[in-house]
Amino acid sequence: MKTLLVTGGAGFIGANFVLKAVAAGNRVVNLDKLTYAGNLQTLAALEDTPLHTFVKGDIGDRELIKTLLSEHRPDAVVNFAAESHVDRSIDGPAAFIETNVVGTLGLLEATRDYWRGLEGDAAESFRFLHVSTDEVYGSLGDEGYFTETTPYAPNSPYSASKAASDHLVRAFHHTYGLPVLTTNCSNNYGPYQFPEKLIPLVIQKALAGESLPIYGDGMNVRDWLFVEDHCDAIRRVLEAGRVGETYNVGGNSERANIVVVKTICAILDDVAPLASGQPHESLITFVRDRPGHDRRYAIDARKLKNELGWSPAHTFETGIRETVQWYLENKPWVQGILDGSYKLERLGA
Ligand code: NAD
Repeated sequence: MKTLLVTGGAGFIGANFVLKAVAAGNRVVNLDKLTYAGNLQTLAALEDTPLHTFVKGDIGDRELIKTLLSEHRPDAVVNFAAESHVDRSIDGPAAFIETNVVGTLGLLEATRDYWRGLEGDAAESFRFLHVSTDEVYGSLGDEGYFTETTPYAPNSPYSASKAASDHLVRAFHHTYGLPVLTTNCSNNYGPYQFPEKLIPLVIQKALAGESLPIYGDGMNVRDWLFVEDHCDAIRRVLEAGRVGETYNVGGNSERANIVVVKTICAILDDVAPLASGQPHESLITFVRDRPGHDRRYAIDARKLKNELGWSPAHTFETGIRETVQWYLENKPWVQGILDGSYKLERLGA
């Protein structure tokens, strides 16, 4: 049993991670600011367990982090907290710098001070794991893969802010000796994803019989990874990753956006046909592209496989079917979000 301070654990990936970590018997202190993307409904199953402590707060609040660290004495900090949507970063980059860069700095400083006060095994085994993205590497052409040594070339305010945070994490290792680990993962999908992101957005719109907007020509390629596989990879890196190293995490599942959307349409034709009898694919419409839209991301995850034995348990086909099914069975969870300020509208145009 470990004690983890998890940040951003009311968001999509963080909450999936927390649910599994608690189920495995770990104690989790979950710090989340509850921005529009944070959702306590996702954590409802943990309400009565003493293994989970939820704290509403900001990763940049050094005093709060200091108090949490000294009260709970975690074995590791896992940093998911971030502004995470590229389209929102186009409309308003400042919040991305505030949380992803300045906030991460605050978290790092408070963690460094706590770690310096640890002794013996506690100091030796402590880890700070920073969850990042493959978007820091920029855009690929038709060939090639991102490896851990690919130079950083972020193209959106979101990826630039994540790149800056990765550099700070690296610097805290080299300058202060903080035992850090960084994971750079490809696009995730699965249960509890906020419906502004491509896959849940398409599922919601298709279920409602609304048009399915595809940016540009639909040929932008992402390497899709089922969220549970990402969470497993993070656990594995936390257990056995080499301090100071970065690990790429990917699904070996490159798909063009148009293929992703057509796959969802075919599954829905099967499990939730439209009353009109039309195929869901007939709802597809092409809309103006995202400004600066990266063409292709593809991950070489061999380091993680060779060193730590991780590979994804889901193919895109099994993961996407499971995901569609989850959204069909959890309509109240989505409705809880759509009752708020977000109404599936286009952002970052
Ligand atoms: P998300 O937007 O669903 O969740 C982010 C969470 O962080 C929310 O609960 C939000 O309330 C919280 N948060 C935001 N600002 C905060 C602050 N200042 N202090 C404390 N909490 C704050 O994001 P996600 O998709 O779950 O992504 C989690 C992490 O994984 C991010 O760091 C993201 O960059 C990274 N990542 C995401 C993907 C993906 O496909 N979603 C892929 C690779 C890496």
